[in-house]
Amino acid sequence: MTTYEVLKEYFGYHSFRVGQEGLIHGILEGEDVLGIMPTSGGKSLCYQIPSLLMKGTTLVISPLISLMKDQVDTLTEIGIPAAYINSTLSDQEIKIILNNIQDGKYRLVYVAPERLKSYDFFHLASHIELPFIAVDEAHCISQWGHDFRPSYKEIPKFIKNLNHRPVVAAFTATATPEIIEDIKHLLHLQSPKEIITSFDRPNLFFQVEREVDKKTFVIDYIKKHKDQSGIIYCSTRKEVEGLGTLLQNKGYGASIYHGGMTKEERERAQESFLYDETSIMVATNAFGMGIDKSNVRFVLHYNIPQSMEAYYQEAGRAGRDGEKSDCILLFSPQDVIKQKFLIQESQPDPDRATASYKNLQYLVDYCYTHHCLRHKILDYFGQSELQENCNNCSSCLEDKKLKEITIEAQKILSCVYRMKQQYGSTLVAQVLKGSKNKKLLNFGLNRLSTYGIMPNYTEKEIRLMISILVSQGYLALTQSQFPVVRLTSSSGAVLKNEEKVYMAIDTVPESQSGHEEVH
Ligand code: ADP
Repeated sequence: MTTYEVLKEYFGYHSFRVGQEGLIHGILEGEDVLGIMPTSGGKSLCYQIPSLLMKGTTLVISPLISLMKDQVDTLTEIGIPAAYINSTLSDQEIKIILNNIQDGKYRLVYVAPERLKSYDFFHLASHIELPFIAVDEAHCISQWGHDFRPSYKEIPKFIKNLNHRPVVAAFTATATPEIIEDIKHLLHLQSPKEIITSFDRPNLFFQVEREVDKKTFVIDYIKKHKDQSGIIYCSTRKEVEGLGTLLQNKGYGASIYHGGMTKEERERAQESFLYDETSIMVATNAFGMGIDKSNVRFVLHYNIPQSMEAYYQEAGRAGRDGEKSDCILLFSPQDVIKQKFLIQESQPDPDRATASYKNLQYLVDYCYTHHCLRHKILDYFGQSELQENCNNCSSCLEDKKLKEITIEAQKILSCVYRMKQQYGSTLVAQVLKGSKNKKLLNFGLNRLSTYGIMPNYTEKEIRLMISILVSQGYLALTQSQFPVVRLTSSSGAVLKNEEKVYMAIDTVPESQSGHEEVH
């Protein structure tokens, strides 16, 4: 059979998606491959098709237990013998599967990376015909990603100890250059055939809302998009429950999903969303991995996630069918503080904490930019060839007028300089405003020449401008829980009047017309 015949006869598709053929042929020709495609780009087929055309049993390593089951069910349905081994199975069930593997009964076997530590499994794998190993979600091997799994480090050890090195095929939806390097290096890929497809999802409309009352926004949005299927991501279980109950009380069909629910409750919630019994899913990021629901028309983020990677992966669950869909992020500065707190709590390794703060900051900059949002996303994934205006994001479409704020920017940059680049944005804003805050007075910051030079703005408005200057690269924040504002190599051009600075008009503070905060 040819690859095309397999595609048609088993999977019922008539053409390959971009990148699939190249990766499939690479594997068939015995090359290591690295497939980098966005979520729902069609990575699974890239290892499923060669597994049918090569002798032996293919191992697929995946961290996603729910995905394993779904894929094995689907493969079995279309007549491809497959199995999975993970912690949800009993010892007895595993024993039967291991025996079947020994007898060569499966074309594909999905395993969780932890299984590679088992001597029995290793022994078995060494004695069967193993044409290639597919490593799904390969970015999990990198410490710099948002999804590091220490058990992925078992993979190279496992492969190295096998009698014959199989072909290694790695797949990921993460395309940042440092993570790609890590994957190649840590998995010991041998001159891999690397295929990166475009991360652009033209049917997705991207929007950021910074100044809205979130509950009102969500309810209005749902009213306007009645009966459409959508996911609302919140960062905590409490928020999921609060918002889920609110929507249910208002008569909307909403399921909720988070890690604190029992397995049965989660399965029930998932099924009722998948089968359109409820149109809305309110969930933490525990929901969605491996979920293949094609008609999700919107993904709202009630809180900012931890990185652009996480955001794009979650938002990317909208519009898998190629139809127009919305991805809206509701931003509030308090959520950023919460995320920083979470990083600080969960990340004892200082290098990884710094990487996490940096990942978060990129997404914060996304929220403050008035440039094309799609451009900002693709830039992150190293794909900046897209023209400046996509005309399908809130920055491009909302007719925002730009207001020049060069003078304000100069005042802020000068103040940061006079404060010796040693303080956070709250204190910088207080100095510019001329606040009588005790801490400020104790530090003697009221004696600076930049003290009180922006009396017509509120501290909040000044902080907003600082965030905008950060997003435009004229200022930088140190990567820590309580970041310090620093000048950058671009600051000089603004201070010397060589470059003008703008912000979108709807973000221009009201009080320019005169109203002043009284102290
Ligand atoms: P990924 O693993 O990259 O997130 P999947 O492999 O789950 O994506 O594929 C996403 C969806 O696209 C699945 O429903 C899959 O069946 C479908 N798909 C994959 N390849 C093709 C193709 N060549 N033609 C049509 N649909 C495809």
